[in-house]
Amino acid sequence: MRIGQGFDLHRFGEGDHLMLGGVRIPFHRGVIAHSDGDVLLHALADALLGAAGQGDIGHHFPPDDERWRDLDGLDLLRRCHQLAASSGWCATNVDLTLLAEHPRVADYTTAMREQIAHCLGLPKDAVNIKGSTTEGLGAIGRGEALAALAVALLKPLEQTERDGGRT
Ligand code: MG
Repeated sequence: MRIGQGFDLHRFGEGDHLMLGGVRIPFHRGVIAHSDGDVLLHALADALLGAAGQGDIGHHFPPDDERWRDLDGLDLLRRCHQLAASSGWCATNVDLTLLAEHPRVADYTTAMREQIAHCLGLPKDAVNIKGSTTEGLGAIGRGEALAALAVALLKPLEQTERDGGRT
């Protein structure tokens, strides 16, 4: 088994929605980002790469590369899971924490878990999402940014799955 962790943070900016866990959430602000700014999926993608010994998303998907402008977070996650598979590993369970004063995401976590579970080929109970605030402290507490933490546990792929993953 392998374990990996990930972290991501984005500043709030102009906009009318957030993408979080692959779910569009109406909000009075957006985030400043080269991609869709989905902190949950970016942290999780880094956790997968970390567990597989594959570096980080900045290495594979450089933010100054126009190919990755507005990259969909679920597409990024899928690509990172494929990179992990190419090293012989696949996710077995993942645990995410969103750090934000607002929005409160309790109403959306079921949909997020479904999106991530589908993307990684996991049962829904292998994807956990928690929300936390920073008690009003720091940039997150002042509502200037939101961030996410992720941990992923990976298991070795069976040889047949490896062969299938390469096609
Ligand atoms: Mg990011």
